Amino acid sequence: MSNTARTKAIEHYVASRPDLEQQLRFFEALWDAQDEIAQDASPYVAASAEETEKALQQTRTLFSLVEPTIPLEPYQAAVRRLAALTAEKAGLPDEQSAALAEVDIAGAVTEKSLASMLTGMDAFVTRIAEAVNDDRLNEPLLMFVLTEAVTPFLREPAAAAVKAAGKYDWQQWDSGLCPVCGTPASSGVVRDEGDLQGGRRWLSCPTCRTQWEFARVRCARCGQRTHDRLEYLFDEQDPGHRVHTCKECHGYIPVTFEKQISILAVPEVEEIVMIPLETVASSRGLTPLGDDVDETVN
Ligand SMILES: [Zn+2]
Ligand SMILES: [Zn+2]
Repeated sequence: MSNTARTKAIEHYVASRPDLEQQLRFFEALWDAQDEIAQDASPYVAASAEETEKALQQTRTLFSLVEPTIPLEPYQAAVRRLAALTAEKAGLPDEQSAALAEVDIAGAVTEKSLASMLTGMDAFVTRIAEAVNDDRLNEPLLMFVLTEAVTPFLREPAAAAVKAAGKYDWQQWDSGLCPVCGTPASSGVVRDEGDLQGGRRWLSCPTCRTQWEFARVRCARCGQRTHDRLEYLFDEQDPGHRVHTCKECHGYIPVTFEKQISILAVPEVEEIVMIPLETVASSRGLTPLGDDVDETVN
């Protein structure tokens, strides 16, 4: 997504949703920093078209086929920069901001732990949490900084991996997990492409920023397809932003209906606009990833 579309989206929402201005400005600074950091990403050579398609058919992620290299020192520099920026601009409680500014999280990252990061982000974060050993830095906060810092090193490799898939029909991937890196989708956009009544839904990966098509009437968490088990939660004043909820797994995913907003949807910006809806979903006992349910309900 181009920066022009992103900037337009940010300015649009700062004007129409002043309650979100502080968050939008923080993320704007974060994304600008990521764009600069991305210049330090290592080159990536994707697998051939044939190998790529075969991996996708076997539901293997493209990063497990050819793993990108994350260079240690540039990654550490990215962690330091984004930790400082988060401390300064995220509007966190004072104690957490102070901890982010004081503790050298990046220093706890080693060549070895970094090498295992892509195959187990949770385990990586737990290791760093143990190494820094500071109660003020909880795992969700460390997860935020450590994953936002890796995104710039994954975006270009992910785009190259997707390009190698050529005209692959992403609906065949048939999963709410990113086909490139395996992270659960953070949101969806229904784009009206003119050839299909009601438009097609594209899910978005928060880690490598890949977007892939996924059926509209289907739970992105458990795969449920029955109409009456799936619902949209939204404010009637703002039908362009909804949360798609599932009665089967109690999971949800925020979805933007591009036709009903007056700008081009940029997933990471729309996700911020939908945070208040997510709060409503949580208050009803729903969770982003839902419960583990038997997939045979499909
Ligand atoms: Zn991904
Ligand atoms: Zn579900």
